[in-house]
Amino acid sequence: MAEMRIRLEKQVQITGKMICVTGLTIGTGDVFGIGGIDKEMIRTGRDNQPYIPGSSLKGKMRHLFELMHDENPVAADGTPHSCKDVKCAICRIFGAGDSENSVPGRGPTRLIVRDAYLETDSAVATEYKRRTGQYVEVKAENVINRLDGQATPRRFERVPKGMEFRFDLVYRWFTITNGEETYCGEPEAKADINGILDALLYVQRDYLGASGSRGYGKVKFLLKPTNDEMVNAWLEAKINPDIGLDWE
Ligand SMILES: [Zn+2]
Repeated sequence: MAEMRIRLEKQVQITGKMICVTGLTIGTGDVFGIGGIDKEMIRTGRDNQPYIPGSSLKGKMRHLFELMHDENPVAADGTPHSCKDVKCAICRIFGAGDSENSVPGRGPTRLIVRDAYLETDSAVATEYKRRTGQYVEVKAENVINRLDGQATPRRFERVPKGMEFRFDLVYRWFTITNGEETYCGEPEAKADINGILDALLYVQRDYLGASGSRGYGKVKFLLKPTNDEMVNAWLEAKINPDIGLDWE
Protein backbone atom coordinates (compact mmCIF):
# COMPACT_ATOMS: atom_id res chain seq x y z
CA MET A 1 0.00 0.00 0.00
CA ALA A 2 1.45 3.35 -1.10
CA GLU A 3 1.91 6.18 1.38
CA MET A 4 0.64 9.70 1.10
CA ARG A 5 3.49 12.17 0.83
CA ILE A 6 3.29 15.91 1.14
CA ARG A 7 6.13 18.33 0.52
CA LEU A 8 6.20 22.11 0.75
CA GLU A 9 7.97 23.09 -2.48
CA LYS A 10 7.84 26.84 -2.15
CA GLN A 11 6.25 29.73 -0.31
CA VAL A 12 5.33 32.17 -3.04
CA GLN A 13 4.95 35.73 -1.81
CA ILE A 14 2.60 38.15 -3.53
CA THR A 15 2.99 41.51 -1.85
CA GLY A 16 2.67 45.17 -2.68
CA LYS A 17 0.52 48.25 -2.21
CA MET A 18 -3.22 48.55 -2.41
CA ILE A 19 -4.33 52.08 -3.24
CA CYS A 20 -7.81 53.39 -2.48
CA VAL A 21 -9.05 54.87 -5.75
CA THR A 22 -12.23 55.97 -3.96
CA GLY A 23 -13.13 56.18 -0.28
CA LEU A 24 -13.25 52.75 1.35
CA THR A 25 -15.01 51.47 4.43
CA ILE A 26 -14.97 48.14 6.20
CA GLY A 27 -17.33 48.16 9.15
CA THR A 28 -16.66 46.84 12.60
CA GLY A 29 -19.93 44.95 12.56
CA ASP A 30 -21.06 47.02 15.55
CA VAL A 31 -22.82 50.32 15.44
CA PHE A 32 -21.72 52.29 18.44
CA GLY A 33 -22.85 55.71 17.37
CA ILE A 34 -19.75 57.22 18.97
CA GLY A 35 -19.38 60.89 18.13
CA GLY A 36 -22.47 60.74 15.97
CA ILE A 37 -20.92 58.17 13.61
CA ASP A 38 -23.40 55.58 12.40
CA LYS A 39 -20.83 53.27 10.87
CA GLU A 40 -17.22 53.18 11.96
CA MET A 41 -14.23 51.98 9.98
CA ILE A 42 -12.46 48.98 11.53
CA ARG A 43 -9.19 49.86 13.32
CA THR A 44 -6.29 48.08 14.93
CA GLY A 45 -6.38 47.75 18.69
CA ARG A 46 -2.73 48.70 19.04
CA ASP A 47 -2.55 52.11 17.36
CA ASN A 48 -6.19 52.72 16.45
CA GLN A 49 -5.43 53.03 12.74
CA PRO A 50 -7.72 51.81 9.98
CA TYR A 51 -6.67 48.52 8.39
CA ILE A 52 -7.96 45.89 5.98
CA PRO A 53 -8.53 42.54 7.74
CA GLY A 54 -7.07 39.60 5.81
CA SER A 55 -10.46 37.92 6.10
CA SER A 56 -12.12 40.82 4.23
CA LEU A 57 -9.71 40.72 1.29
CA LYS A 58 -9.63 36.93 1.18
CA GLY A 59 -13.41 36.68 1.44
CA LYS A 60 -13.91 39.09 -1.45
CA MET A 61 -11.30 37.31 -3.59
CA ARG A 62 -12.97 34.00 -2.85
CA HIS A 63 -16.47 35.24 -3.55
CA LEU A 64 -15.49 36.61 -6.96
CA PHE A 65 -13.35 33.55 -7.74
CA GLU A 66 -16.36 31.32 -6.98
CA LEU A 67 -18.54 33.42 -9.28
CA MET A 68 -15.98 33.09 -12.07
CA HIS A 69 -15.88 29.30 -11.59
CA ASP A 70 -19.56 28.58 -11.64
CA GLU A 71 -19.21 24.87 -12.47
CA ASN A 72 -19.95 24.35 -8.77
CA PRO A 73 -23.53 24.97 -7.65
CA VAL A 74 -24.23 27.60 -5.01
CA ALA A 75 -25.39 26.13 -1.70
CA ALA A 76 -29.12 26.47 -1.12
CA ASP A 77 -28.52 28.52 2.04
CA GLY A 78 -26.04 30.82 0.30
CA THR A 79 -23.02 29.74 2.33
CA PRO A 80 -19.59 29.70 0.65
CA HIS A 81 -18.77 26.79 -1.64
CA SER A 82 -17.40 23.65 0.00
CA CYS A 83 -16.97 20.18 -1.52
CA LYS A 84 -15.17 16.85 -1.35
CA ASP A 85 -13.52 16.96 -4.78
CA VAL A 86 -9.80 16.46 -4.21
CA LYS A 87 -9.02 18.54 -7.31
CA CYS A 88 -11.33 21.48 -6.51
CA ALA A 89 -9.35 24.71 -6.92
CA ILE A 90 -11.71 26.78 -4.76
CA CYS A 91 -11.38 24.48 -1.74
CA ARG A 92 -7.64 23.95 -2.31
CA ILE A 93 -6.80 27.65 -2.53
CA PHE A 94 -9.29 29.21 -0.12
CA GLY A 95 -10.20 26.31 2.18
CA ALA A 96 -13.36 24.31 2.77
CA GLY A 97 -15.78 23.75 5.59
CA ASP A 98 -14.70 21.55 8.50
CA SER A 99 -16.19 18.30 7.22
CA GLU A 100 -14.49 18.68 3.83
CA ASN A 101 -11.10 19.70 5.19
CA SER A 102 -10.30 16.05 5.78
CA VAL A 103 -10.40 15.11 2.05
CA PRO A 104 -7.28 12.93 1.64
CA GLY A 105 -4.87 14.31 -0.90
CA ARG A 106 -6.16 17.86 -0.86
CA GLY A 107 -3.72 19.11 1.75
CA PRO A 108 -3.78 22.38 3.71
CA THR A 109 -5.46 25.56 2.49
CA ARG A 110 -2.89 27.14 0.17
CA LEU A 111 -3.55 30.86 0.41
CA ILE A 112 -2.66 33.02 3.40
CA VAL A 113 -3.96 36.60 3.31
CA ARG A 114 -2.54 38.77 6.06
CA ASP A 115 -4.06 41.94 7.47
CA ALA A 116 -3.13 44.95 5.33
CA TYR A 117 -1.86 47.93 7.29
CA LEU A 118 -2.01 51.59 6.42
CA GLU A 119 1.04 53.15 4.82
CA THR A 120 1.27 56.11 7.17
CA ASP A 121 4.38 57.47 5.42
CA SER A 122 2.64 57.94 2.06
CA ALA A 123 2.29 61.50 0.81
CA VAL A 124 -1.52 61.35 0.97
CA ALA A 125 -1.59 59.93 4.51
CA THR A 126 0.99 62.40 5.81
CA GLU A 127 -0.87 65.35 4.33
CA TYR A 128 -4.25 64.11 5.50
CA LYS A 129 -3.01 63.54 9.04
CA ARG A 130 -1.40 66.98 9.12
CA ARG A 131 -4.62 68.63 8.00
CA THR A 132 -7.18 66.67 10.01
CA GLY A 133 -5.27 64.88 12.75
CA GLN A 134 -6.47 61.44 11.59
CA TYR A 135 -6.54 58.97 8.72
CA VAL A 136 -10.29 58.69 8.20
CA GLU A 137 -12.98 60.99 6.87
CA VAL A 138 -16.65 61.18 7.79
CA LYS A 139 -19.09 61.14 4.93
CA ALA A 140 -22.71 62.09 5.49
CA GLU A 141 -25.37 60.45 3.38
CA ASN A 142 -29.10 60.93 3.39
CA VAL A 143 -31.74 58.27 3.41
CA ILE A 144 -34.96 59.71 2.02
CA ASN A 145 -38.20 58.60 3.57
CA ARG A 146 -40.46 57.36 0.77
CA LEU A 147 -43.66 58.66 2.39
CA ASP A 148 -42.83 62.14 3.56
CA GLY A 149 -39.68 62.84 1.53
CA GLN A 150 -37.73 63.78 4.64
CA ALA A 151 -34.00 63.14 4.56
CA THR A 152 -32.41 61.33 7.49
CA PRO A 153 -28.66 61.93 7.55
CA ARG A 154 -26.31 59.07 8.39
CA ARG A 155 -22.61 59.44 8.93
CA PHE A 156 -20.12 56.92 7.60
CA GLU A 157 -16.47 56.77 8.48
CA ARG A 158 -14.17 55.81 5.62
CA VAL A 159 -10.57 55.83 4.49
CA PRO A 160 -10.16 58.70 2.02
CA LYS A 161 -9.21 58.36 -1.61
CA GLY A 162 -5.48 57.96 -2.19
CA MET A 163 -4.62 56.14 1.03
CA GLU A 164 -2.36 53.11 0.64
CA PHE A 165 -2.25 49.76 2.44
CA ARG A 166 0.50 47.13 2.35
CA PHE A 167 -0.98 43.80 1.30
CA ASP A 168 0.74 40.49 1.86
CA LEU A 169 -0.33 37.14 0.41
CA VAL A 170 1.48 33.82 0.57
CA TYR A 171 0.75 30.83 -1.64
CA ARG A 172 1.99 27.55 -0.21
CA TRP A 173 2.97 25.25 -3.05
CA PHE A 174 2.59 21.65 -1.92
CA THR A 175 3.33 18.52 -3.89
CA ILE A 176 1.04 15.73 -2.73
CA THR A 177 1.49 12.18 -3.97
CA ASN A 178 0.26 8.73 -3.12
CA GLY A 179 2.42 6.17 -4.86
CA GLU A 180 1.98 6.71 -8.60
CA GLU A 181 -0.85 9.17 -8.08
CA THR A 182 -0.14 12.90 -7.88
CA TYR A 183 -3.00 14.86 -6.33
CA CYS A 184 -1.28 18.15 -6.63
CA GLY A 185 1.90 19.21 -8.40
CA GLU A 186 3.36 21.97 -10.52
CA PRO A 187 0.38 22.34 -12.94
CA GLU A 188 -1.99 22.85 -10.00
CA ALA A 189 0.38 25.34 -8.34
CA LYS A 190 0.66 27.31 -11.56
CA ALA A 191 -3.12 27.33 -12.03
CA ASP A 192 -3.62 28.38 -8.40
CA ILE A 193 -1.21 31.30 -8.64
CA ASN A 194 -2.89 32.43 -11.85
CA GLY A 195 -6.23 32.12 -10.09
CA ILE A 196 -5.07 34.18 -7.10
CA LEU A 197 -3.71 36.97 -9.28
CA ASP A 198 -6.89 36.85 -11.37
CA ALA A 199 -8.87 37.19 -8.13
CA LEU A 200 -6.96 40.38 -7.28
CA LEU A 201 -7.99 41.73 -10.68
CA TYR A 202 -11.60 40.77 -10.02
CA VAL A 203 -11.47 42.73 -6.74
CA GLN A 204 -9.90 45.66 -8.56
CA ARG A 205 -12.74 45.69 -11.09
CA ASP A 206 -15.37 45.14 -8.38
CA TYR A 207 -14.95 46.70 -4.93
CA LEU A 208 -13.68 46.01 -1.45
CA GLY A 209 -15.60 46.62 1.76
CA ALA A 210 -19.07 48.09 2.00
CA SER A 211 -21.25 50.28 -0.23
CA GLY A 212 -19.54 49.41 -3.52
CA SER A 213 -22.68 50.08 -5.53
CA ARG A 214 -22.61 53.63 -4.14
CA GLY A 215 -19.06 54.23 -5.27
CA TYR A 216 -17.02 53.10 -2.28
CA GLY A 217 -14.19 50.60 -2.26
CA LYS A 218 -12.53 50.88 -5.68
CA VAL A 219 -8.94 49.77 -5.18
CA LYS A 220 -5.83 49.28 -7.26
CA PHE A 221 -3.13 46.72 -6.54
CA LEU A 222 0.51 47.44 -7.27
CA LEU A 223 2.64 44.33 -7.04
CA LYS A 224 6.10 44.47 -5.62
CA PRO A 225 8.62 43.07 -8.11
CA THR A 226 9.37 39.43 -7.46
CA ASN A 227 11.69 36.81 -8.87
CA ASP A 228 9.03 34.13 -8.79
CA GLU A 229 8.66 32.84 -12.32
CA MET A 230 5.00 31.84 -11.98
CA VAL A 231 4.02 35.31 -10.77
CA ASN A 232 6.13 36.91 -13.49
CA ALA A 233 4.61 34.70 -16.19
CA TRP A 234 1.15 35.86 -15.16
CA LEU A 235 2.23 39.50 -15.12
CA GLU A 236 3.76 39.26 -18.56
CA ALA A 237 0.63 37.59 -19.94
CA LYS A 238 -1.93 39.87 -18.30
CA ILE A 239 -0.53 43.34 -17.79
CA ASN A 240 -1.95 46.01 -20.03
CA PRO A 241 -3.17 49.57 -19.51
CA ASP A 242 -6.79 48.48 -19.12
CA ILE A 243 -6.06 46.24 -16.20
CA GLY A 244 -3.86 48.51 -14.15
CA LEU A 245 -2.42 45.89 -11.83
CA ASP A 246 1.21 46.78 -12.17
CA TRP A 247 4.67 46.84 -10.73
CA GLU A 248 5.33 49.21 -7.92
ZN1 LIG B 1 -14.69 22.65 -3.64
